Amino acid sequence: MKNDDWRGYLNPVVRDMPPSGIRRFFDLANEMAGVISLGVGEPDFVTPWRVREACIWALEKGYTMYTCNQGLLELRNEISFKIENRYGLHYEPKTEILITVGSSEALDLALRAVLTPGDEVIIPEPCYVSYGPTTLFSGGVPVYVATSVKDGFQVTAAQVEKVLSPRSKVLLLCYPNNPTGAVMEEKNLAELAELAVARDLIIISDEIYDNLVYGVTHIPLATLPGLKDRTILINGLSKAYAMTGWRLGYAAGHPAFIEAMTKIHQYTMLCAPITAQMAAIEALRSGGAAVARMVEQYDRRRRLVVRSFNEMGLYCFEPKGAFYAFPDVSATGLDSEEFAETLLREEKVAVVPGGAFGPSGQGFVRCAYAASMEDLSEALKRIGRFVRRASGGRPAGQTAVAER
Ligand code: PLP
Repeated sequence: MKNDDWRGYLNPVVRDMPPSGIRRFFDLANEMAGVISLGVGEPDFVTPWRVREACIWALEKGYTMYTCNQGLLELRNEISFKIENRYGLHYEPKTEILITVGSSEALDLALRAVLTPGDEVIIPEPCYVSYGPTTLFSGGVPVYVATSVKDGFQVTAAQVEKVLSPRSKVLLLCYPNNPTGAVMEEKNLAELAELAVARDLIIISDEIYDNLVYGVTHIPLATLPGLKDRTILINGLSKAYAMTGWRLGYAAGHPAFIEAMTKIHQYTMLCAPITAQMAAIEALRSGGAAVARMVEQYDRRRRLVVRSFNEMGLYCFEPKGAFYAFPDVSATGLDSEEFAETLLREEKVAVVPGGAFGPSGQGFVRCAYAASMEDLSEALKRIGRFVRRASGGRPAGQTAVAER
């Protein structure tokens, strides 16, 4: 190999991985003045004051060292208590819970702990942009299952069954869902659970949005018959507690999985930052009221966004969780990329093209409504103007909506 061909030294899986489609839009939006961003999947709220104060207190008292690899036992106790209290599921703090650097690390560890080269990971799409790349980095093979708006973006056991092969090992689920906001119905979950048991699948369940549901109940996968031992539950404080920058997540599951994940974590990460862990203890103890207030705000914004898109003639599926709306923009005659790029250029509103989340996202865009009511109202006004222009003055989707 010629010495100036440094890319030739790279692992081809990493070299050939395209950068995230979301990032490209952030970068474009950041270069322009006056942009309202509905692109980023992060709360516009600041972490509740008592949580920040707990961190300041920890620093003042000199808590600046490593913690044990698995994370502070006091924090694991709080997490165990929270899950048991809310869902009636018991996880032993000493052996069944691991504190990680964001739920992102927990997901990576879970995949690396269970996959051997060539094992297949079944991923319903559209999905969070990390799932495919993390699977590939772990030596696995992503097998995507298309979900559709007509099924409320819920994956069914029949769809999963169709793609099963002798190499199928993991079913990777995310409900409440990013990017669609879908929440699973109990009947669909029960059928998936039966299939997972019958076909001996491990479930990795990313439930980072479990607190953010509107008028429905979130059912954790591990509560379904036969699933507790075969499910690795992934969660974190980023979304519900407005703590994205703290990088604090966790995994809960059978001791065999947690022990294996802890081994990788021990050699690669050592531990999550102590200040974030101490803040998380406070968040879990006293943050409930702040979370409830934020959820109430998200719900108001959600209703405004969904109503506005439908009034523009762009059919918008009603999201029951997370903080994303996923309107169908095909009635404008533009594909998702064209819609997002032209909207950004002409009206300075950033949304993410649905295709960034998988082929079934084509024709849709993701709008994060974790923005202030003022910003949202202004953004929706600009989008409405853009849609009218793009549709030649007609209300965009009269036929498209009527057909549904
Ligand atoms: N999982 C999903 C579905 C997400 O949407 C995100 C962030 O957008 C993450 C995981 C990562 O969260 P964390 O900040 O805990 O790493």
